[in-house]
Amino acid sequence: MKHYAAFWVGAAPRKAAEPNQKLVDARLLQEFRAICGDSGLITSQEELKTYECDGLTNFRVLPQAVLLPGSTEQVQAIVRVCHRERIPFVARGSGTGLSGGALPVKDGVVISLARMNRILEVDLLNAQVVVEPGVFNLEVTERVASHGFFYAPDPSSQSVCSIGGNVAENSGGAHCLKYGFTTTHVLGLEVVLPDGSLAHMGGRTLDTPGYDLTGVFVGSEGTLGIATKITLRIVKRPECVQTLLAAFGSTSEAGVAVSDIIAAGMLPAAIEMMDNLAIEAAEAAVHANYPDCGGLLLVELDGPTAEVEALMQQVDEICRRCGAGEIRVAQTEAERAVVWKGRKSAFAAVGRISPNYIVQDGVIPRTALPRIMTEIERLSTQAGIRVANVFHAGDGNLHPLVLYDRRIEGQEHAAEALANRILELCIEAGGSITGEHGVGEEKKMMMSKMYAEPDLETMHRVRCAFDPEQISNPTKVFPRTRLCGEKPGEYRPHPLETAGIAERF
Ligand SMILES: Cc1cc2nc3c(=O)[nH]c(=O)nc-3n(C[C@H](O)[C@H](O)[C@H](O)COP(=O)(O)OP(=O)(O)OC[C@H]3O[C@@H](n4cnc5c(N)ncnc54)[C@H](O)[C@@H]3O)c2cc1C
Repeated sequence: MKHYAAFWVGAAPRKAAEPNQKLVDARLLQEFRAICGDSGLITSQEELKTYECDGLTNFRVLPQAVLLPGSTEQVQAIVRVCHRERIPFVARGSGTGLSGGALPVKDGVVISLARMNRILEVDLLNAQVVVEPGVFNLEVTERVASHGFFYAPDPSSQSVCSIGGNVAENSGGAHCLKYGFTTTHVLGLEVVLPDGSLAHMGGRTLDTPGYDLTGVFVGSEGTLGIATKITLRIVKRPECVQTLLAAFGSTSEAGVAVSDIIAAGMLPAAIEMMDNLAIEAAEAAVHANYPDCGGLLLVELDGPTAEVEALMQQVDEICRRCGAGEIRVAQTEAERAVVWKGRKSAFAAVGRISPNYIVQDGVIPRTALPRIMTEIERLSTQAGIRVANVFHAGDGNLHPLVLYDRRIEGQEHAAEALANRILELCIEAGGSITGEHGVGEEKKMMMSKMYAEPDLETMHRVRCAFDPEQISNPTKVFPRTRLCGEKPGEYRPHPLETAGIAERF
């Protein structure tokens, strides 16, 4: 097996600046207390433990303090102190991230946006909503549903994850196939920059002059500052929604159906896939009454009734032609809700069939689905490690859940190796190392497998333009901390790399 090691470019790499040399001392804590009040500052070891990780629990770091500001002004005041003292900070929404994005930084503070949770404005005429970052995703839809609107990006964690976290991760969900990811729905942002100043990006109109800074900020994983106000686009509910379940013998058969549906010129609201293990887990948790099969497709169509009915007929025919046995269409809203409940609870449900598991997130071209599903199955058998698959098939966004038991010696290591190999398969197929969960702490070492040095360097320059001191979530996304202005020069491979013993990241 290859070892991952850092080899940099040209002359011996300069030592990266430590993001912070200084501990948060009593004087600074007093200053933070004056900004957020007693209840807005957490320093006790027991309470800090709540913030030591996000949804990726195998990385844990205890922060020096957690701050809970209640307003943009308080966020600015905290960040100004951090900037003055070179204290790294990590923004945190609900902490449901799956790539370690909200993992605290040693010697740094966490700035939780949980108290900034108001919906500030609902503008139905312009189909817009203005929210603070701590608002939960589902709350937006709940607020506008009675007027016939919804907020389209729907991560499975939508009942608890925050809009601020969604913006930072450019989160997706089942219905992003048709409606687009978070970035399609963010019109404007108010952002506290890493020096404490306030910037406004985008606006209330669909296009604004100058660089698309909103686009740059969405998906920046907390590395460019803190979003404190977000203007979102909401969407009118379609007249008709229908959800079809099609049971196939295998995920590769189901994968052919996915490609054929899209090739027929349709754009369903969602196409999701679950394999037998994922079905077993979801059934145990939710009793969704899914058919027992090797590959289950959930296809949802929405739009005018006549159009949905005609297209549903076509989807049915394509699924049958691709080998589907049982095909059902949910007959009531309650039936539809259960179908989705099963799908959306599948990650958590896997805990019922395995003590430990890795949630992987990679993307492949849709047409590669049958081949890659077969390859994942082969690798899983070869490693003796079970893999459950539940994913956004329409987007080619895989979520292999690699199951293992930490108590069995060597299994965790074997599971990690398998999870990494699956990501490499995604890259080899022309895809990506993440579809929606972000790079964070977890996948930063994979970035140089996906990008060439000039690509990473360009991203790094953008980061430095926003955060020259590198105090905003400094250790995430990039394979290693570099100084702003550091020039990598021409890459020369290390002899160990040439010999195939080590890899560069
Ligand atoms: C069971 C389960 C199912 C999931 N399903 C999906 C899914 O279907 N699709 C999907 O995309 N994700 C999914 N996720 C992952 C996760 O819910 C999303 O990434 C979500 O957007 C994280 O939101 P959060 O509020 O929890 O953010 P956090 O985890 O707190 O933070 C995530 C990142 O955002 C940054 N951040 C937070 N707030 C701000 C802010 N105001 N300004 C700047 N940066 C900020 C943090 O620094 C961090 O880098 C799932 C997670 C779980 C546990």
